[in-house]
Amino acid sequence: MLYAVSNFKVELDENESDVITRLVQQLGITTEQLISAVCARRAIDARKKSNIHFVCTYEVELSGKLQSLPAQARPLERSSLQLVSPEIFKHRHSGKAHVVVIGAGPAGLFAALSLVESGFKVTLLERGKPVETRMRDIGRLRSRGELDSESNICFGEGGAGTYTDGKLYTRIKHPFLRWVLHCFVRFGARPDILVDAHPHLGTDKLVRIVRNMRNHLTSLGVDYRFETRVDDLLIKDNQVTGVRLANGEEIEATHVVLATGHSARDTFKRLDELGIAMQAKDFAVGVRAEHPQQLINEIQYGNSANHEKLSAAEYSLTHQVPDKHLGQRGVYSFCMCPGGLILPSPTESGGMAVNGMSNAKRGGLWANSGIVVQVTPDDITRHGIKTSPLMGIDFQRQLEVATFKAAGNQYAAPAMRLNDFVNKKASGTLAPTRFKPEALPTDLWQLLPHWVANPLAEGLKGFNNKMRGFVTDEANLFASETRTSSPIRIERGKDMQSITVQGLYPVGEGAGYAGGIVSAAVDGLKAAEAIIQSGNS
Ligand SMILES: Cc1cc2nc3c(=O)[nH]c(=O)nc-3n(C[C@H](O)[C@H](O)[C@H](O)COP(=O)(O)OP(=O)(O)OC[C@H]3O[C@@H](n4cnc5c(N)ncnc54)[C@H](O)[C@@H]3O)c2cc1C
Repeated sequence: MLYAVSNFKVELDENESDVITRLVQQLGITTEQLISAVCARRAIDARKKSNIHFVCTYEVELSGKLQSLPAQARPLERSSLQLVSPEIFKHRHSGKAHVVVIGAGPAGLFAALSLVESGFKVTLLERGKPVETRMRDIGRLRSRGELDSESNICFGEGGAGTYTDGKLYTRIKHPFLRWVLHCFVRFGARPDILVDAHPHLGTDKLVRIVRNMRNHLTSLGVDYRFETRVDDLLIKDNQVTGVRLANGEEIEATHVVLATGHSARDTFKRLDELGIAMQAKDFAVGVRAEHPQQLINEIQYGNSANHEKLSAAEYSLTHQVPDKHLGQRGVYSFCMCPGGLILPSPTESGGMAVNGMSNAKRGGLWANSGIVVQVTPDDITRHGIKTSPLMGIDFQRQLEVATFKAAGNQYAAPAMRLNDFVNKKASGTLAPTRFKPEALPTDLWQLLPHWVANPLAEGLKGFNNKMRGFVTDEANLFASETRTSSPIRIERGKDMQSITVQGLYPVGEGAGYAGGIVSAAVDGLKAAEAIIQSGNS
């Protein structure tokens, strides 16, 4: 019989055999009855700095049935670590449907994967380059300040999710979630991601996983094309019939999955011209904070800061600032990257944005995180931008252009000590940083709109109340963090299709239905599910 024992406390210094002995005692069995015990979930409980420990779920297999069930134990039908394909993807399609997927980010890749494995003819079109070449283009931006507007942090194989920390936790709940994690393991991720409460992949691992997915997709016959930008949709009688590429080529399709991410501004513009229903939505802008990782470890783990079993510490902070328009305006940390790097992440010539990444080991000296302020469509119109579904992009662009100018018309980052920003005193110096191509001491109060800068400063003070030492001279803020989420939602029905055009499936972060790697992948799978169910083949 298989049982799960949850909420099982494990001390940092406890070894596995002591843990098993305690499990056996807790279950009231003999060691002979125990066939196996596997940790199936592990979270760090750091609420009390004097007693940091793991909270685990163990899956134990016994030779017989438990006489009485302890409170923390429940019987299991099968291990949560076992890969079980969702029923819908066991379907085998034999019709003539041809699905064109636009964008090889998590949403597009997972849609393409499940559709081709279900027997569909799939074409996957990506404007950027394969991961290997893309890495070189990003390197050129960091070393020489040269931007390739089609191959960068946001565009290219693997999507915006590739040069990231690869955090795989999400607030969404969906049966496909577990399947996504299993697929990552299938393509080369550490099985630990199925166990850790806060799993992450790291850029170095993601690059390999994305390459393995490409090899699998092409081996199954996916026509996977790079440097292939879709510039237009072919539509007849409110039904999508295909796509037109930048080189003029037309590709016919029965279904089009639009998975273009939050930075495909030209694509959004064309969709708006075509009259595809979309709405401006809330998003967030701000800066990226960089602290010494050791400082964050000490704040979060106290005396256990350097314990070998604890990886680089994370944080996730929110603060509500009183606001005369909204009542409360949210300020929050976003995409925290322990032991990582801040990266320049613009896509448009003459605009500058930043974001963050880490490698799998999170072994770097710096901890970085977006610190962003909620922005609503009303805020944008109130500050002089014309109402339209694209107004969030107009605001993002305005800030990115101002950032580029503040950096002396280059893809460098205007930066300020965190303490200076909170105290509104520009010292003109920076804490040590390895940001590339260059960080330039700048008074960020002169760059950020005051309705963003004021709540940001209040939010940082609030964070300091939760994490003493967060506001420090040892940290810098870098401008500007603008690509947090999509400022647009493309309206779709329950069948996942655009409410304007049949056969068009807007998915993922760009369409406004996801906010990270896993939620975008799940959304891509939902589109695949809807296509399989549509019977339009
Ligand atoms: C630096 C950075 C760090 C991040 N860190 C994390 C993290 O640690 N964890 C996390 O969960 N999320 C993270 N995110 C967010 C995450 O990357 C996105 O939520 C996710 O990638 C969205 O997936 P998507 O498939 O919807 O779109 P994207 O990943 O943006 O993919 C869209 C793809 O479409 C392509 N494309 C766009 N337009 C066209 C066109 N017209 N024709 C052809 N192709 C086109 C683009 O080149 C791109 O490859 C991070 C984002 C960034 C930028």
